[in-house]
Amino acid sequence: AAKELGKNRYVHYDSDLDARAVEQASLAAALSHALERDELRLLYQPVVDLPSGRVVGVEALVRWHHPSDGMVSPVRFIPVAERTGQIVPLGEWILRTSCYQAADWYRRYGDEAPARMSVNVSARQLLEPGFPQTVASILAETGLPPDRLTVEITETAVFGGGRAVEAVAAIHALGVAIALDDFGTGHSSLGLLRTCPVDVLKVDKSFVDGVTGTVEQEAIVTSIIEIAQALGLRAIAEGVETGAQADRLHDLGYRLAQGFHFAKPLGSAEIESLFTTNEEGFTSAAA
Ligand code: C2E
Ligand code: MG
Ligand code: MG
Ligand code: MG
Repeated sequence: AAKELGKNRYVHYDSDLDARAVEQASLAAALSHALERDELRLLYQPVVDLPSGRVVGVEALVRWHHPSDGMVSPVRFIPVAERTGQIVPLGEWILRTSCYQAADWYRRYGDEAPARMSVNVSARQLLEPGFPQTVASILAETGLPPDRLTVEITETAVFGGGRAVEAVAAIHALGVAIALDDFGTGHSSLGLLRTCPVDVLKVDKSFVDGVTGTVEQEAIVTSIIEIAQALGLRAIAEGVETGAQADRLHDLGYRLAQGFHFAKPLGSAEIESLFTTNEEGFTSAAA
């Protein structure tokens, strides 16, 4: 049918679509072997307590070493995995691996270990029947105390309520913390805080970038910490890249921050050396 249309104006549009579909199909095909071929790895990015500079948490971020293309960004393959449903087994592997890692750190380092492991969970996973039970059984299997796990969801995943919000509530009821990722970039950031149990706001990098910008840009970051404080939620500033941003955030009342200024996502051995040898913690530029 595409060939029959080939002589008219749709041909260009169609071939673009075809190229994208082919690329996604080949990614999906390669992705279907990623787990058995051991091509996925987790990196961990520190979440830093600004007053003390200590690593109080980590966020697990997945990496895929594609057999021929090398490292593929999650920005490219997570959306494909969501569309094909492959995110369900991949996400379960991510959750199990990060919980084993956190439980292992807790056993070996006790209170020196980061208090919380944060794991990104996509809409497709939340909608999978039985997902809250999967979380519960992974916690039981790994021995990780529920209050040491945080599940990160996006506003779009729970927009419109329904089954996704029910799943979030069931996970929250296990004692797991819920973080709203990329806070402020969705459709209904404030409305969601009434309908969905949330413990943590992760302030999107696009707002954090403005903290050393204009008065108007800073006002947004200030308003978000005020909302968090008024509602008794934690706030984590994401994508902090400079000491000036870290200092300003601290002055505005932020306690928690994450970003390249402190550390990039790191392998487990590298991060262990941080929380064992970096006893004075990260210091802000002017501190
Ligand atoms: P996210 O959850 O908002 O993660 C933060 C992203 O910002 C990460 O990119 C991190 O490496 C990057 N980042 C952290 N600090 C800085 C900074 O100071 N400057 C800049 N420019 N970037 C910074 P990454 O690892 O490429 O992940 C991108 C997105 O892919 C994540 O955004 C998340 O939505 C998704 N993702 C990553 N891992 C997983 C996973 O295991 N499961 C699911 N469902 N999604 C994942
Ligand atoms: Mg995240
Ligand atoms: Mg984020
Ligand atoms: Mg983001």
